[in-house]
Formats: sequence, structure tokens, C-alpha cells
Amino acid sequence: MDIDGTLIELAERPDEVVVSTGLPETLNRLSQRLDGAVALVTGRRLDDIDRLLGRLPIAAAGQHGLERRDAAGHRTTHAVDRTLMATIADRLQGFAAGHPGTEVEDKGLTVALHYRRAPDAEEAARRFVKEALRGVGDALSLHDGKKVLEVKPFGVDKGTAVREMMAAPPFAGRTPVFIGDDVTDEDGFAAVNDLDGISIEVGYREPTVARYRIADVDATLALLASLADRNGEGSMTDRGI
Ligand SMILES: [Mg+2]
Repeated sequence: MDIDGTLIELAERPDEVVVSTGLPETLNRLSQRLDGAVALVTGRRLDDIDRLLGRLPIAAAGQHGLERRDAAGHRTTHAVDRTLMATIADRLQGFAAGHPGTEVEDKGLTVALHYRRAPDAEEAARRFVKEALRGVGDALSLHDGKKVLEVKPFGVDKGTAVREMMAAPPFAGRTPVFIGDDVTDEDGFAAVNDLDGISIEVGYREPTVARYRIADVDATLALLASLADRNGEGSMTDRGI
């Protein structure tokens, strides 16, 4: 599962989100029911997940698959040109300094430029990021998300995280399910589709390769609670794909 926009409502700033009461407990119960085969797959840093949800004994991939840890907390990290990322982060900071309301989230392995509080800066921000990336060849990729432009190394994404997790216990041999809301989740959807899994988009963003849809964060939380408690049905609708 993705986190922001999936388990938690989006906020003006990433550090202003509000975790609904009971979410950590629901995730714990779901994980217990599935013998530990539950994972969070987010653009946030792993440390940021702990700040939000507390330190849960649940597997997680952070920064779009660049860092990963199992339920016991053992970490693996993909190699990243941190000097290059720092250079890009510096350039984006320069842009943000001249565009009040925009904000750079430097996560070390990835960097995000948020413009939710500065909607008028959207086009300028997109142009600036594309221009900044033009000089670095194929090394970095841009994801155009919900009020955010995310820069990350090319070749590792949420689909990578899904495939890596599915190759080892406790996930190996199971049917993967990916729930997410934004463009970076498309890689996760594609990966589970390839593995004959279940891809679920939260909301109504198009286009998507997700095969199922659930209305919003509240509906997702209700579905998870119902799965965790083994009572009742969720509220997914088949997109007919
Ligand atoms: Mg999201």
C-alpha cells in the first residue's frame, strides 16, 4: 500500500498530514492476519513512516523503492548518485526561494518540489524541473504527481519494490495486491498486474493501469479494517478492464 492519498488524506504540506485514529492498529492486525505479508510502498523516507505511524513491525519501501526494510527492520538501499541528487536539490531550492509557497522536500535519494500552496507556480515549476533534468541525461526521472514534481534516479520505482518483495518471504508465492492513488503507483499496479495480482486505484485519476478502483481514503481504511477483522466485504468496484 501507498500511504499519502491512500491511507492518509493529502495535506497542504507533507508534514501536515493527519493519521486517522486506529490506522496503525489496523495495519498491525492486517499484518498478523496475513502472517506478516503486508507492506507500505511510499515516496516518503522510511524514517518518515515511523514518524507518522510509529515504528510498526511491517515491511516497507521508501523513496519509491530506493530503500527497503523487512518487518524485522533489516534495511537495503539501492545505489544512488547522491552528489547528483544534492545538485538537483540545490537547484530546486533556488527555484523555491523565488516562488513563495513552493517547497523542496530533500529526501536524500530523491527530491520533491511541492506546489500545492502555490498553484500559480505549477507551470514554471514543471518547466524548471524539466530543464534541470535535461543536463543529466537518463540518470534521473521526473514523476508529475498530485501538486508535486518528484525527481528520482531512473530505473527504480514502486514496481521494483513490489518485485523485490514478492521474491522473498513472507510475500513469495502469494497474490500481490497494490493500493495507491498517484502516478508513481502506476509502476506498482503494473508490477502486480504482471504477477496476476490485484491493482486498486484510490480515487478517479486517469489514465491508470489499475484494474480496480476504490473511492477514497475513507473507503480504503474501511476495506482494510474489514479485511483485518475478517468480517464483511469491502467497497471496491470493478473497472471492467
Ligand atoms: Mg499517494
